[in-house]
Amino acid sequence: MHDHRKLGRELGLFGSDPLIGAGLPYWLPDGAVVRHTLEEYIREEERRAGYRHVYSPVLGKRELYEISGHWSHYRDDMFPPMELGGEQVVLRPSLCPHHALIYRSRDHSYRELPLRMAELGGMYRAELSGVLGGLTRVRGIHLNDAHIFCTLEQAAGEAAAALAMIGRAYAAMGIRAARYRLSLPGPGGKYVEAPEMWQRAAALLTEVLDSSGVDYEAAPGEAAFYGPKIDVQVADGAGREATLSTVQIDFHQPERFGLRYLGPDGARHRPVMVHRSIVGSVERAVAHLIEEHGGAFPAWLAPVQLVVLPISDDEWDRAADFVRQASGLGLRAELAGPERGSLGARIRSARLVPYQAVIGAREAAAGQVALRLRDGRRLDARPGTEVLAALAALVAARSTALWPE
Ligand SMILES: [Zn+2]
Repeated sequence: MHDHRKLGRELGLFGSDPLIGAGLPYWLPDGAVVRHTLEEYIREEERRAGYRHVYSPVLGKRELYEISGHWSHYRDDMFPPMELGGEQVVLRPSLCPHHALIYRSRDHSYRELPLRMAELGGMYRAELSGVLGGLTRVRGIHLNDAHIFCTLEQAAGEAAAALAMIGRAYAAMGIRAARYRLSLPGPGGKYVEAPEMWQRAAALLTEVLDSSGVDYEAAPGEAAFYGPKIDVQVADGAGREATLSTVQIDFHQPERFGLRYLGPDGARHRPVMVHRSIVGSVERAVAHLIEEHGGAFPAWLAPVQLVVLPISDDEWDRAADFVRQASGLGLRAELAGPERGSLGARIRSARLVPYQAVIGAREAAAGQVALRLRDGRRLDARPGTEVLAALAALVAARSTALWPE
């Protein structure tokens, strides 16, 4: 496997500048395409699964995190507060408190549950500068986050649905889980004290894991401070594991924020909060995609999906026309003409691009292209419109296959 920091620089995906600061990468246009495409995919999946999206600010008053428990259990990882007009505001360490307040801003009936609230939003972590590098240890994190407010009876089903969604997303991204982990509390004062709550949440997550059929291991000392979680681990080339996706069942924050819903009995009840992230932070997800695929992203995620190669200047106009047609179908296409070197050199420099369409005199005259796939396959010349329709269908389906089987 590859080092995403080295490849990210070579491929022009992201960068950093000491004047912006360590752990605060910026995304270059090709990297931004990959990130944006991933974000759109996940929002679409969430919409299909009944989530509604919100936006919330990256700052909050210190008091907010005192209520959530972050201030007493997580302060070492938070940026110091900023003084502002006699108040202290803090860069948020997570989105949960904001979502709990959004839930609390209106009354809810049991008929609205499960209420699935999603946001792909920023949060901040005061990592020490010594451990920063690339996209995996960053101080600004953009998390594919969601909170499901539901009844106790609905919690296991919601957690299981999130786990299934993670499986589908990994298949589309062409990555796999190295391990599933049931992260439990360990010794030390890091965790909120409520033994009964921990046991109930751990029992529900165990039930979800057992019925999903995946192998998993219990990991004491890896829980969030407010509850146990399922962590989906991915591994890099050196076998180092990192958590990409998580599913948590939380009784603590609904209690702290006094969340309620009106039950069928006319009385007020406490909802359960399921926290879940399907692809984790976009930073870690893209770092892992770069390393797993060595920059050869699945076609739907590739910064450039199709490069069009006229053999000589005589086919230039036909090639430019083909690029316009491809762009019109939403494909990311580029023309690489003879001014960029021999055909062989142009093919080599586009080796990470999933599709290369070669147009010579014969193809130009017949309205055809000779398609080469990134994996070395060369297809017979065929009508350009037929090729574009096939590529657009594969991309729309988020297929990891380069050509229909
Ligand atoms: Zn959360």
